[in-house]
Amino acid sequence: MQYFGYAGRILHVDLTQRTVRKEALDRDIARRFVGGHGVNLRLLQDLLPPRIDPLSPGNPIIIGSGALVGTLAPGATKVFATTKFALPAAEDGKCYVTTGVSGGQGFGLYLKQAGYDHLVITGKSERPVYLLVADDAVAIRDAELFWGKMDIYQTTDALKTMHGKCGVVAIGRAGENRCRFSMALTDKKSTLGRSGFGAVMGSKNLKAIVVNGHGKIGIADHDRFKNALDAVRRDYQQRVKPMGRFSEFSWETVFLHTMNPGVWSKKKWNEIYGLHKLAEMKKGNVTCTHCWMACGDDLVVDKGEHAGTRSVTGHYLWVPIIGQKLELEDAGAALGLIERMNRDGICLCTASSIMDWVTRRFREKVIGPADTGGVVLERSHQSYMDLLRMIVEREGIGNVLTEGWFAASDWMGRDARTDYAESCGIAKGTDSIYPGRAATLDPMRFTMGITSPRGGQAITGGGTISGIPMVPLEQIRMEAAGIGMPEDAAERVFRHTPYYGDFNVGRYTRYTEDFTSVLNSLGTCTIYSAFGLNHLQNLAELYSAATGIETAPDTLIKRGERIFNLYKILNVREGFDRKDDAFPEIWMTPLKTPDGPQPLTDYYQKRRLSGEDIVHLLDDYYEERGWDVEKGIPRREKLEELGLEDSGICVKAGKGEIS
Ligand code: SF4
Repeated sequence: MQYFGYAGRILHVDLTQRTVRKEALDRDIARRFVGGHGVNLRLLQDLLPPRIDPLSPGNPIIIGSGALVGTLAPGATKVFATTKFALPAAEDGKCYVTTGVSGGQGFGLYLKQAGYDHLVITGKSERPVYLLVADDAVAIRDAELFWGKMDIYQTTDALKTMHGKCGVVAIGRAGENRCRFSMALTDKKSTLGRSGFGAVMGSKNLKAIVVNGHGKIGIADHDRFKNALDAVRRDYQQRVKPMGRFSEFSWETVFLHTMNPGVWSKKKWNEIYGLHKLAEMKKGNVTCTHCWMACGDDLVVDKGEHAGTRSVTGHYLWVPIIGQKLELEDAGAALGLIERMNRDGICLCTASSIMDWVTRRFREKVIGPADTGGVVLERSHQSYMDLLRMIVEREGIGNVLTEGWFAASDWMGRDARTDYAESCGIAKGTDSIYPGRAATLDPMRFTMGITSPRGGQAITGGGTISGIPMVPLEQIRMEAAGIGMPEDAAERVFRHTPYYGDFNVGRYTRYTEDFTSVLNSLGTCTIYSAFGLNHLQNLAELYSAATGIETAPDTLIKRGERIFNLYKILNVREGFDRKDDAFPEIWMTPLKTPDGPQPLTDYYQKRRLSGEDIVHLLDDYYEERGWDVEKGIPRREKLEELGLEDSGICVKAGKGEIS
C-alpha cells in the first residue's frame, strides 16, 4: 500500500534480544495522531508499563519524525524523542512521560528516507553499542571506541566519517553516567531531551543512533502542495525576512526585555553581551534542513584566554544568558562553558542554574568546604568548569547534584524551589527556560510554569506570537483565529478578566497548547509559527496535499487537542494531577534587579498578579479544556469526545473517581 507524506513503517529494535522488527504504520493511528510527538505518544501508551523506573530496560524510547518531515514544507525538520524521562518531577520521585524535540541536519529526513516514520527502542544492551539504520539494513554495532572516550562532537564526527552522509543522535559523558539532566544532540546542531533523555539512552548502553536512507517521500498532490508552499514563502519574504537574522532580531526585541535574571542592569548586560559581541563571535549560520530562517550560530572565540572555543549548537542568545547568570563578564568564558556542556550532553539551563545556586550559597556561607568535600566554589570560569566536570563524572558533590533539584535540595538542607529566588522558577522538578517575572505571565510562561505535563519547557506552547512581549491585542486576536480558536471561545478568552487583564491567559493557553501539539506532530518548527508563519490554514493545506488525507483546519486542531489530552493522561497514569500544576512560589516575590523589582504581571504589565489570581486562571484553563476542575485531569466525556476512552484513565463525571 502506498503512503504519501509518510514513510509508512515503524522500526522496532530490542537491545536485550538484539532483534529487529518492521511493521506498517497503522493508517488510522497516523490519521488520528498525525505523526511525530502525537504518534510517539500513542505508541508509548501501549508500550510503557506505568510507574516503572525510567532507567530500567522496560522504559521504551520512541523516536519519530514529524508527518511533514521529508517534504519541502517550511521548517519541517523536527524529530521527537518520547520516553519516561529521568529527572524526578516531585518529592516522591515520580518522573514524567514527555517528548524532546530537535531539529538537526538531516536525522529526521534520513529516518524517513530509510523507510521509517518511527523508531522504537526497547531493552538494554549488555555492552555499549550504537544503532546503525541504513535503508533496510539495521545493525547493532559495538561502541567501545566511543563510550567514555569521545564527547558528542567527536562521536558525531567519527560516525559521519565512518558512515558517510547520515544523521546522528548521540550522548556524551553526562548521558553515559546517567546524569538526570543529561540530553542528546542531533547532528551536533540541536539539543534533544533536556531533563534526562541522555540518561535513558545511557541506561540502555546506547551511545548513538545513526540513520541513512535513499528512499523518496511521495507527495499526493504536487501542484496543491507547491501552491501552499508558495503562500508561506511569500509571507516569509514580505514580512519576516526583512526583520533580519533570528539572533539579532531576538536580542533587541525579545531577550533583552524578557530574560534579564537580575544580576546586572539591562544597560550593563547590553554593553557586555550586545550585538557587537555577537558580530565578533559569529562565523556563520547553522541551520536545520529545509529551513529559510537558519536560526543557529557558529560561534568562535578568536583571541584571549579562550581562543579556539567553538560551539555550533543552538544560537548566540545562550551566551549572554549563561554569562549573566554566572556573572562571567568574558563572553569567551561563557562560550567555553557552553561548548563543554554541549560536548558532554548536559542541559545548559539546569546545569548552569544548579551551579549558580550552590555557588551563591557557598559565597553566602550557607554551605562551606565541609559540605563540599573541601571544594571551594567561586564565581569564576575555572571553578564552574571544575564543578561541571564533577557533575558529569559524578565526583564528590557532583554525584548528588547530578540527581537533580530534589537531591540537591536535600543535600543543601534548603528547598531550591523557594530558596533559589534568583531563578526563573522550578516547576515539576525542572527549571524554566524562560522566566515568568522578568517577562510577564503570557501563554508560553503559563504552560511552562504551570500546566505543561512536563514543566519548564517550550514544547507545549512555544509556537505563538504571544511569547513576544507587548504585541497589540488586535494582533493577538488575529493570531487566535490563525491557531484555530473557535469564535465562541474567543468571546470567553478576549473578555476583560478582573484577575488578569485584557484577555484570559488561562483560557488562551489551552489553544496555544493544542496548536503547538499540531506543530509537534507535523514536525514544523515552532519558531516559524512564533513569527506568524505556518498558521493552521497553511498547515492543513500542506498536510492534505502531502499525504492525501484531506484534513480541514478545524479537524487538524481537534487532533492537536486529542494529542495534548493523551499527553496529559499518560502523566496522570504516572500519578500527576492538579497539585502538580503548582506555579513556582517564588513568582509571588518580585525579582530583585538593579533596574528595580520585577513582580509577576499580566501580559500588558498593567496588573501585578497574586497567587489567588493564578488559581482563578488555572480553574479557567481546566474549564476551557472540559476537564475536572478540582482534579485538573480529563473527564470521561472529554476522552470519549476525543476517542481516547481506551486510555484507561479519566475522571468519571461528577464523581471524581479515576477509572
Ligand atoms: S528556525 Fe532554527 S530551529 Fe527552526 S528549523 Fe530553522 S534552523 Fe531549525
